[in-house]
Amino acid sequence: MVDLLSNTEFPVTCPSCNNTFSKRFRELETKAEVSCPRCRAAVPLDRKTFKAMRKGQGKTF
Ligand SMILES: [Zn+2]
Repeated sequence: MVDLLSNTEFPVTCPSCNNTFSKRFRELETKAEVSCPRCRAAVPLDRKTFKAMRKGQGKTF
């Protein structure tokens, strides 16, 4: 079974500069934060959201 969700890119918006960039779900669900490619600010991720998305796979996406 191919895990499509892990390779799906999701938009992340930087709260510092409002830059929106894409990260793979696999990266997002395993990290507490990602750094913005434009301003290097740490963008906190809500891991609960990604866990819920993983559980709801096939329903929401
Ligand atoms: Zn930024």
